[in-house]
Amino acid sequence: MSLLRFKMVERAINNKAIDVNAPASQPSDYYGRKVFGRNAMRKYLNRQTYDALIDTMESGTPLTADIADSIAAGMRQWALDNGADHYTHWFQPLTGGTAEKHDSFSEPDGRGGVLEEFSGKLLVQQEPDASSFPNGGIRNTFEARGYSAWDPASPAFIVGTTLCIPTIFISYTGEALDYKMPLLRSLAAIDSAATAVCQYFDKSVSRVKTYLGWEQEYFLVDEGLWAVRSDLMLTGRTLMGHESAKNQQLEDHYFGAIPERVMAFMRDLEYESLMLGIPLKTRHNEVAPNQFELAPVYEEANLANDHNQLLMTIMDKVARRHNFRVLLHEKPFKGVNGSGKHCNWSIGTDTGINLIGPGRTPQENLQFIVFLVNVIAAVHRHNGLLKATIMSATNEHRLGANEAPPAIISTFLGTQLSTVLDKLERSKSEDAIRFDAKNVFKMSGVQHLPSIFLDNTDRNRTSPFAFTGNRFEFRAVGSSANCAEAVIVINSIVAEQLNRFKRDVDAKIESGMRKEKAIYEVLKRLIKESRAIHFDGNGYSEEWRLEAARRGLDCETSTPLIFDRYLDKTTIDMFRSVGVYTPVEVEARTEVKWETYTKKIQIEARVLGDIAMNNIIPIASKYEGILLDKAWKLKELGLSATTDIELIQRIQHHTAQIQSLTAEMIERRKVANRIDDQRAKAIAYHDTVAVYLDQIRHHIDKLEEIVDDQLWPLPKYRELLFLK
Ligand code: ADP
Ligand code: MG
Repeated sequence: MSLLRFKMVERAINNKAIDVNAPASQPSDYYGRKVFGRNAMRKYLNRQTYDALIDTMESGTPLTADIADSIAAGMRQWALDNGADHYTHWFQPLTGGTAEKHDSFSEPDGRGGVLEEFSGKLLVQQEPDASSFPNGGIRNTFEARGYSAWDPASPAFIVGTTLCIPTIFISYTGEALDYKMPLLRSLAAIDSAATAVCQYFDKSVSRVKTYLGWEQEYFLVDEGLWAVRSDLMLTGRTLMGHESAKNQQLEDHYFGAIPERVMAFMRDLEYESLMLGIPLKTRHNEVAPNQFELAPVYEEANLANDHNQLLMTIMDKVARRHNFRVLLHEKPFKGVNGSGKHCNWSIGTDTGINLIGPGRTPQENLQFIVFLVNVIAAVHRHNGLLKATIMSATNEHRLGANEAPPAIISTFLGTQLSTVLDKLERSKSEDAIRFDAKNVFKMSGVQHLPSIFLDNTDRNRTSPFAFTGNRFEFRAVGSSANCAEAVIVINSIVAEQLNRFKRDVDAKIESGMRKEKAIYEVLKRLIKESRAIHFDGNGYSEEWRLEAARRGLDCETSTPLIFDRYLDKTTIDMFRSVGVYTPVEVEARTEVKWETYTKKIQIEARVLGDIAMNNIIPIASKYEGILLDKAWKLKELGLSATTDIELIQRIQHHTAQIQSLTAEMIERRKVANRIDDQRAKAIAYHDTVAVYLDQIRHHIDKLEEIVDDQLWPLPKYRELLFLK
């Protein structure tokens, strides 16, 4: 073991669990303490201001300047009372992650002192110099103006000593430059489309909200070991590393006892999260060694997504306190499971009905089937686009491997619901859906419809978009992603589909058909048309790949080409019709996706080139030198050196390959770098540069197997994955 590696391993072993900050009190004592939520608002705002703000939060009523000033004053006082001295507009640029620029509350008072200032204007809108955030050409650098504007629907919170105000981020001309703005638009789109459809069943519905429950997977590695792996540090994943003799084959990590040091981290993280109002609920080990998951109770999608973004930053801070590093990369280690972020999605009415779950009355059950079928039809029409939402240079390593959802989108319904839809499709339109006491599906007149009990036992883990009883679970989302990307598209395509549904049903009603019959007729057609997307079998099997292609589902596997789906006419028209993205915005965002893809591969290629030439080749050569010396001496003595020479030849072969492949990769990069068009460049990086990463790695991993462990400079998989 090289000295540095030895020291870091020694340090990792000596890193014991540290005391956590969490007090002995109950979570109910500190939950939301760092959030300017209703309790704080009641205390720090006068009645009129409080009522106005609640009205804005609930129904989007615009705030007057006076009220904004009054809210700002209350918020500032609350922040100062809770130890904050700075404030920031907190937003979610397309780089991923969150951005913040801190300003002090203190302002010179013109008389040689300072005053704590924070006006409504500063609360509501700011102009961060944001020219260097990706914008896909919407703002060129000399028109750098971008605005951040307060989102009152998501409460302000304090991190450290800074008051963070959730904001959208838009260009001077109004185009969205972030994730929150289009998310809010998509929430409005599905609200209006779904509310209109609900009117068929219940006139009292006036609002439909979207709910999101995410499940965050992640790895922990010891910080010292992480620090000497430049690949982990700079790219978030290991670009080399021979598989550990033991990894996850015993399946002994999943749901196993959580190690003490990890437990201390988790408790600390939970404490911080609960104080910020993130309702964390579950924690457990995941399948791979050193892999874990946590999940909150689901919330309204805008807030849930802010909470996920916030959690990802908090995780990083808390991990460092415990001498860990959190890896949110989708595939940090070859040969062990990657990390995803299941997005559990549902919509519900202001009358308290979950539209993605079976109900108690015949009407509710018909309504449920209507929403279910429309979601499926939307996913069918836009399956390629849905895949584009989750694709990235990092998530591409996870999809398609036999561990994560396949790179083909399909929906899982389970036998019971599949039977319902099959029978419905074949039924006479006056019939309705019914289950008898044993949960056997029957057709009968509407009035006899009892509750539908859904048997959830046949949950299919290989399906990327599965119905799980009262929600859809989109499992293809990557662990490092902003969930908004997926939720925006789900909301938009479902909104579009619901609008179509309404139009078709209304047309039939206008031509004299009974409402129920019209609904059944359209449902039957939709079930028939979207049959291809429905698949309950094994999503990892080779047969499915072939079958999916036969069914006309999107089977593209190249990430840059998958992004093309954003620019399909059907996509552009869909986004425009529901008012979520203008064509300019879609184009700009797709540019950013290609650009980001290229940059990620570029960085990986550089880092691997450096490691290969600076770490691996010198060490392998050194060991080769020792062997050459030995072989020479053996020959001098007249002894056989055959096996040593064989080993020397192997080392020589691999080092020569690494050197020539690295040189070739650099050449390919130079060629690709000369391409201006972002799409063509990303394709070049995918087809001609990224391919070298695995090839070079192969030879490095072979060397790791044969080179003296005492010389090997970089922490090995067994150390990264098993020390905790
Ligand atoms: P599993 O690991 O089996 O998928 P978990 O209990 O870990 O299940 O996670 C389920 C997630 O789904 C939780 O975040 C939960 O809050 C969320 N969830 C439950 N019901 C709904 C719903 N109706 N809409 C959205 N999310 C939901
Ligand atoms: Mg799940």
